[in-house]
Amino acid sequence: MTVSLDATLDAVLRRNPGENEFHQAVKEVFESLELLHSRHPEYAEAAILERIAEPERQIIFRVPWVDDEGKVRVNRGFRIEFNSALGPYKGGLRFHRSVNLGIVKFLGFEQIFKNSLTGLPIGGGKGGSDFDPHGKSEGEIMRFCQSFMTELFRHIGPDTDVPAGDIGVGGREIGYLFGQYKRLANRFDAGTLTGKGLSWGGSLVRTEATGYGAAIFANEMLKAKGLDFEGRSVLVSGSGNVALYSIEKVQQLGGVAITASDSSGYVVDEDGIDLDLLKQIKEVERGRINEYAERRGGKAKFVEGGNVWDVPGEIALPSATQNELDGESAKTLLKNGLIAVAEGANMPSTPEAVDLFQEANIAFGPGKAANAGGVATSALEMQQNAARDSWTFEDTEKRLTDIMVNIHDTCAATAEEYGRPGDYVVGANIAGFQKVADAMLDFGVI
Ligand code: GLU
Repeated sequence: MTVSLDATLDAVLRRNPGENEFHQAVKEVFESLELLHSRHPEYAEAAILERIAEPERQIIFRVPWVDDEGKVRVNRGFRIEFNSALGPYKGGLRFHRSVNLGIVKFLGFEQIFKNSLTGLPIGGGKGGSDFDPHGKSEGEIMRFCQSFMTELFRHIGPDTDVPAGDIGVGGREIGYLFGQYKRLANRFDAGTLTGKGLSWGGSLVRTEATGYGAAIFANEMLKAKGLDFEGRSVLVSGSGNVALYSIEKVQQLGGVAITASDSSGYVVDEDGIDLDLLKQIKEVERGRINEYAERRGGKAKFVEGGNVWDVPGEIALPSATQNELDGESAKTLLKNGLIAVAEGANMPSTPEAVDLFQEANIAFGPGKAANAGGVATSALEMQQNAARDSWTFEDTEKRLTDIMVNIHDTCAATAEEYGRPGDYVVGANIAGFQKVADAMLDFGVI
């Protein structure tokens, strides 16, 4: 990197000690921006990078709640309002025991560029808590969500900051959060949260959007190489909302999704995942993945604690969590004939894995481009809320598809323009950054 980019990166790393995931996300973006900065000195002159890496506002708060035994519990809540150059802060809430400031900041930072790539008027933010929903009762989850919102509600609103779901936050949690928001604010501000239930302001396709979008993005990358999904084996990790609907879209596109996983291990089903069964276990019963193999009548195998990337397949859609696919896994995948990766999760591939994929010249779609369909459809939900309208599934899905194709084409064209054809990382980072940076230039020093 140039001396000035290096110095800026060093300053960001020093100012945010111990925030490893945030460092990783910032480094990747800064490395991609070298080419842009050499052509556009105005960004460095206005210290855009220094400003973009510093959240506009960081909120950290206590979340006390009472468990079913009557014991008082305390969690930590976060909301990082990272950048509002393009619109209200927008991004999900993650409830997981691993959540800390560095994780929320990496997610918020990624969200700025992802949201910019959607072409829709949304800034970047992220939040969550180290609350672990596993094993908690309905009542405990409701009381936790109510306590969390009791503080968060004063910071959010349809034109200010619009949270949604992420790991550990789905339709049920959004319901409890919205209920408490509505009660405290004494307003039915539908556009304050997205991922809502369909009868109270939610959008069709929002549930499916991230997974559908990742598969559509993968399909566009394959098309650019003259290939398609037809008959190809696809490895999917995770079994949450992103994984389930990636599998659904892969199947619609003619691919054969053969794996899914959770924290206990993974399943392989060479005939193709039985999606109705997997949805029943994961969405309805909230069960473990081994039950899938048990109920599949000998057709599928469960591997306890194993690495899903050991399974041979041609296309990988990592859809679980950050840094789930490391250099060793990347080597195994490449040896087994991998041709494309589209990240359904946020930053699931380690920097070593990304380097290996790119050296091998396979199609690699980074999360901020490949998984942008979720937040894009959240922005469509906001549009419907603002118009007090609701669109059909077909209409909404068509818009999602157009957005994903457009993101793919923008990343590809930008990579080309900067002399790195086929490099979707550089394409996504430059295209995502430039729009935000130009808006920031217009606003002056704020
Ligand atoms: N959590 C999702 C993401 O990582 C969606 C955020 C949203 O819909 O606001 O993009």
